[in-house]
Order: sequence, then C-alpha cells, then structure tokens
Amino acid sequence: MVAGAGSGRQDALFEDAVAGCAPDVRADALAGFASVVLDIPTRSLSEPFAYAVPEPLGHAAAVGSTVLVTFGSRPAVGYVIARSEALGQLSGAEALDPARVRPIRSVLAPPAFDGPSADIALWMAREYVASPSECLRLFLPPGAAPRLKRGEDGAYRLDRPQAKPASARWVSLTEEGRSFVPDARARRQRQLVEALACGPVTTRELNVLYTDMSAAIRALERRGVVRVEERRAWRGLDDGTTLSSAQSVPPAELTRGQREALAAIDEELELRRGGVVLVDGVTGSGKTEVYLSAIERVLARGEGACVLVPEISLTAQTVGRFRTRFGSRVAVFHSRLSAGERLDQWDMVRTGAARVVVGARSALFCPLENPGIIIIDEEHEQSYKQGSSPRYHAREVACEMARRRGIPVVLGSATPSAEARFRAASGSFRGQPWRLVSMPERPGGARLPSVIVSDLRREFSGGSRSMFSRELYDGLMEVVERREKAVILHNRRGFAPFLMCRECGCVPTCRHCSTALTYHERTHSLECHTCGASYRVRPYPEPGSACPKCGSRYLAKMGLGTQQVEDALRALLPDDVAVIRMDADSTRGKDGHKKLLEEFDAAECAVLLGTQMIAKGLDFPEVTLAAVVMADYALKMPDFRAGERAFDLLEQLAGRSGRGERPGSVIIQTYLPHDPVIRAVSAHDRSVFCDYDAAQRSEALYPPYVRLARVVATGRREDDVRAYLRTLVQALRPDLAASAGKAGDAIDSSLPQVLGPVPCVIERANDRFRHHFLIKAALDFDLSAPLARALAGHPAPIGVSVSVDVDPYDLM
Ligand code: ADP
Ligand code: ZN
Ligand code: ZN
Repeated sequence: MVAGAGSGRQDALFEDAVAGCAPDVRADALAGFASVVLDIPTRSLSEPFAYAVPEPLGHAAAVGSTVLVTFGSRPAVGYVIARSEALGQLSGAEALDPARVRPIRSVLAPPAFDGPSADIALWMAREYVASPSECLRLFLPPGAAPRLKRGEDGAYRLDRPQAKPASARWVSLTEEGRSFVPDARARRQRQLVEALACGPVTTRELNVLYTDMSAAIRALERRGVVRVEERRAWRGLDDGTTLSSAQSVPPAELTRGQREALAAIDEELELRRGGVVLVDGVTGSGKTEVYLSAIERVLARGEGACVLVPEISLTAQTVGRFRTRFGSRVAVFHSRLSAGERLDQWDMVRTGAARVVVGARSALFCPLENPGIIIIDEEHEQSYKQGSSPRYHAREVACEMARRRGIPVVLGSATPSAEARFRAASGSFRGQPWRLVSMPERPGGARLPSVIVSDLRREFSGGSRSMFSRELYDGLMEVVERREKAVILHNRRGFAPFLMCRECGCVPTCRHCSTALTYHERTHSLECHTCGASYRVRPYPEPGSACPKCGSRYLAKMGLGTQQVEDALRALLPDDVAVIRMDADSTRGKDGHKKLLEEFDAAECAVLLGTQMIAKGLDFPEVTLAAVVMADYALKMPDFRAGERAFDLLEQLAGRSGRGERPGSVIIQTYLPHDPVIRAVSAHDRSVFCDYDAAQRSEALYPPYVRLARVVATGRREDDVRAYLRTLVQALRPDLAASAGKAGDAIDSSLPQVLGPVPCVIERANDRFRHHFLIKAALDFDLSAPLARALAGHPAPIGVSVSVDVDPYDLM
C-alpha cells in the first residue's frame, strides 16, 4: 500500500512552508513518480508514500537511492523503493491525485539496493514486525547513510556520513615508457621503472620502498614515461597472516561426500528453483572445500557468491582460505574493520571489483550484483539471529532471497539445527525444496578423536579439589611429553549462577517447570524464571545448604573464570609450555585475535585456553588434545535450545583435536556424565542426543515443531509493564483464535497459545523491569500479522518500551 503524502488529513500540514527548503518544483516538469519509505524514527510509518520526481532528478532518484522529501511540515529522509511513469502504476497510489503529490526535493545518496532487495526489506518488515525503514537501512553503505537530526533550536540538520571513500595515487608505465631506458646516473628513475615493470604501484608503496620517490615520479611523468592516476583505494584488504593453515591448495581429489554435495549444488544451480542444500558434515570433513568449489562454478557462470560465516570464525584462517583461492575478488566484512574499511569493502562489492563476499550476518545485504549462490557456514550458530530490531535470522532471510531470485542456498554444519534437520527431512519448508547431503568422513582417513568423559563427582568424592581430573592431568602431561598442542575450553560467558551438588551432580530444577533454577545472590534464593516460583536453598558453606536429591551439604555455587584456569595451568605445566588465553578480554584491539593464534601456531608446545571462540573453526593439525574444564555450564540453561547449543559446542571442540596425522583425544569434565549430550559426543553418535531432544521438544511444543514469537516489555514501573502486556494479550487472543480457524493442519489443538505474561529470566536491566509473553503456533501460522495489528491498536504507553521477536532465540 502506498499512501499519498499530500492526501487527506495531511493537506493542512502541506500548506505550511518548510523552513530552509527549496520551493517545490512545478508539477509539469516531472519525470514520473516514486514510492518512498520515510525514515522517521518517532513514528510508526509502515507504509511507503508517493512522491513526484522532478525532471532534473529523473535519473538520480532511482530505486535504492536516499532522498530528501517534505513530510507534513518537516523535511524527511526517505528511500526510493519503486519508480513509475504514472502515479496509477505505483502499487496503492492508484486513487491519488497527481496534482497533490509532493515532489522529491533532492537526492542525498546514490542507489544502494535494487528492486528485489527492496522487496526483501519489505518482506522482513512484515515477517519480523519491524519498520520498513530499519529493514532498508540494512542495505545501505555501512557508516555512510545520511540522517536528519533535529537540533535544540528545533531546526533539522542533515547528518552526513562519517566514513569517506579514500583514494590512492597509482603510478604505471605508459606505452612509450615501456621502451624507456633511463640514464645510468639517474638511479631513482631506474628504480622506479624497474618497480613498475610488473604493473601499477601506489605512490605510497613506492615511497615506503624507496624512501622518497616523488621527484622521480614527477620527472618521468613530465616526460610521458609514467602516468599517475587517482583510483579508489580499498581499505580493509590487508589480512596478511603467518598462519600456515590459511593457505588453501585445492585437494588432488575430492572425497565421496564432497562430490555428492557438489553434485547436489550443481543440480540446484541448474534447476534455478531456490532450493536449499543442507551439508551435514562432521568437523574436518572438508565443507569449506565444498564451498570453495561451488563458488568457482558460480564465478565461471558470471555470477557472484555470498558466504556467511559466524563472527567467531571470521578469523585470519578462514578469510585466508578464501583469499588464496579468489584473491582480491573477495570482500570481507567483520566487526574488527574500521568504518572506512567497511565502506571500502562494501564499495568493492557495489562496483563489481569483488564478486565473492565473506562476512558475518550483515554481509547478506551488501549490493552483490547478480548473486548466484548464498552459502551459510555453521548454519546452526545463534549469531545469525540479530539481537536488536529488526530481529531477523540470516538463514531465514537467505532462504527468502534465494526463493525470490531462484538461486540455491547451501547450509553447512557439523551439528545442524533442529530446524534445518527437520526441514531437510521433510523435503520442503514453506514451499521451498530442502535436501540433505551427509559427509560422515574426514578426507585421507583422518580418524575422529577418542573421547574420555571425566566424572567430576567421582573426582570430588575421591577427595580431589583440583579443577583438573586425573584424566585431564595425564592428558596434558602426555601432550607436554610429545611436544604437541592442546586446546582447553572454559566457557563462562553470560551464564546466570546456579547451584550444583558436588556429590551427585544434581542441579536443582523447578517443581513445576523442570527448568534449572537460578541462584539469586541478593535474596539468597533459587528462582524459577519460567513460572516465578522461589525456593529457599542456600549454597555451601552457608548453614542449611542441602542437595534436594541426596541431602549432601556440598551444594556449591558454580562460577569459575578463564583467568583462574589460566593460573592453574601455568602452575601445573613446565615453563617451556606456552599458555595462551583467548577470551573477550584478551582479544581486544584490532588484531588481538590473530596475534594470539599466530603465537599458538608458532609455539613448539602450547596450550590454548579460552571461551567458545577457541572451540570453533580453528584448524591446527598439531593439536592432539581438546578438553573442556566444565561441560555443565552449557548443559543446564533455562532454555529449550540449551542442549542443542551444548552439543554443538562440545562437538566443535572435539573437532579441533586430531585434524592432522596424529590421532587426537578429547576429555570432557562433567558432573553429568549420563546427560544425552555427553553420551552423544563420547559415542560419536548424534542420534543419542537428537532423538532425546526431539522427543522433549515435540512433547513440550517447541520449535522446530511449532513457531514461537516473544513480546518483551520494559519500563521503570513494573505495574505499567505488566498491565501493558496484559492489554496486548487480551487484544491478541481473539485475533489468534480467528486466524487459527484459517490455518491448516495444526499439530496440536491447543495452538495457537499465549504463555504469560511473566517476568523475564533477566528480570531487571538498567533499572527497567522486563516482562514477556510467548506465542506458540502451528508452523504454517502467520504470527506476524496478528502481532502487528495488536501493536498498531495498542501502542506502548509512555515509559514502557515493547519489542517483538518472531522466531526468538533469546528467551532470557
Ligand atoms: P570443515 O570445514 O568440514 O571443518 P575443512 O574444509 O576445514 O573441513 O577441511 C579439513 C581439512 O581437510 C583441511 O585441512 C582441508 O584442507 C582438508 N581437505 C579438505 N578436502 C580435502 C580432500 N578432498 N582431500 C584432502 N584434504 C582435504
Ligand atoms: Zn546431591
Ligand atoms: Zn517454574
């Protein structure tokens, strides 16, 4: 729907003069009309508006451009999402009077997206109940989008982008220059001609190589020997690393699994039906090689490729593998780039200089011309879901893009998400074809590591108070003796404290919900964040501490950081073993991550200790031991995906060991040796966990069997927050029930259902109370429309903010 900005109620406003605006162009000098999405944050303007395109802007105000328009009595920034000759051709604007449609005043930025991308943004806005302008903004050049800001004096000012394109001066030999023989005494000139013999070089590089070349360059330029040109510089390309594994030589022969995966991808490339190929390959099975080969084929067809990699594995290693294969045709996006570098990488894609994009979730939106494939590595990773509005999931958006463009999506994982496995098993999802290829073996007969489970309960009752079990101690000593390497995981990020019995391994759970209880320091109580129940249980050594299961006094509060583990490792290991700690604290700074990995790579014998960032993606063949200090942190989270995440983490960690010639081993320390996750990892049998997890989720009605949406409200006054969510729920219930009648085969007659409102797990943040409710619905049910209607009918009162999360991953 497109509404006329000059129609109806707005008429009066348009009579007002807009301060500082050029007079509107007369309507007879028009180059057609444009549908414009306004970027006005304070209003929920979800519909595009029709504007006239004055003749002089006819070319510039193309689809994807950023424009300045008048809205009411104020200027506004907007994005052109469609153009047409006649007003009647703009969808939704058929009934408007052309004479009343306001003109676009100026064009602020050239096109950043095309028509299909605009359609994707509008789809995202509907699907994720977000505003179209915030979805379109994802497609704009990073750090360079103009915004309007209102000053204290009430006047609007245009906020121009900070990041500016950079250019470099390139020196090259001219035609005549090629046969130029410099005077023997002109040493500088001879050096310059030699330096240019193999192609153009920047003045900056020349000056670095030969101190000062400026005079020689000027002299030879005057004589027509060299040419100096300004060219756009691409910052952010310098990812040089000494890591040997960052090289990628194409293997002599592909494995059977790799051939099967490529055959499936080839078929989808030919079919052009927007199909999804799930490559389910164990760690080290050569998935990256499959991506590289698929991209070669796509490039040969004259198309581009977009590769998404979780931020955590956007290491020099991964990037290096793409760069060695595709050279400077690769643009890379990761969070360590500066604003200027980001903009340059984006421009490399827009100008066609780069045909391959590798990056975190937002790389999906860069302006790749004629994309031929979208690849998502580690498809199950939670970082593909954006945590702020629009709360999209890159996998879902990629699938929608692929469906609309008729190109394949390749999803790769050693531990595919329950969603992906379920869809691939069904053969299709929402009308899109899904297929599965398994790669169960590592190339060259490299074997999967042996797994030892260290039972910490036994260690504890045996009198040990050390954080290293007998098995881990022995394992580390063997690594030291053989002068090999080990990686040790200690993942202690953002987990609520909990109590655990050190004798029986029990973690107290809620009587009504079976979720793990969270220990509250302030009130000395254990609380259930699903139903709100509170239990008076105290941790050891407080009086009254007792395990609800076995009565032991040793009900300990768990909480041990990587730094403590580092100290213990240093005390344990000989001085000539490098202990490298890698976590959010030690990897600050631009190259912190890379430097630590290079240090680990160069060391003769070393232990790499860290949070989950060490468990994923690293390929060091000398690593023969991978261990986790305490697997239970990951296992007992109040979230239905906790098991899936723990399984992924442990499986990935195990995958770091024994990637080279020498066999590897894995040691998992845990108080819960019989947990299905632990049993599955140690038996190299995923079904042990997946069957258990699937049964739990289908019984409790969780994804992938149903859809979820979550609505969170926050505010300083708890009563207001609660009351507002109750209002929303009241408005939603009849709407959901009415829509349910239309939806097809519901798997459960109780669907759709609303759970809550209740306080969130994180009940209070920044002095604001947090409450939420969940909606569960059948898979084919459109949750977004009723939510959008409820929110439109009931905006949040002053002091309360509301956010909607469709297909949420964060339930805290
Ligand atoms: P994954 O991405 O599945 O974890 P990688 O692509 O990193 O696996 O491959 C693991 C290792 O196996 C890498 O060192 C890679 O170079 C090597 N490799 C991949 N394919 C082959 C092959 N067909 N033959 C021999 N080695 C291979
Ligand atoms: Zn106990
Ligand atoms: Zn409960």
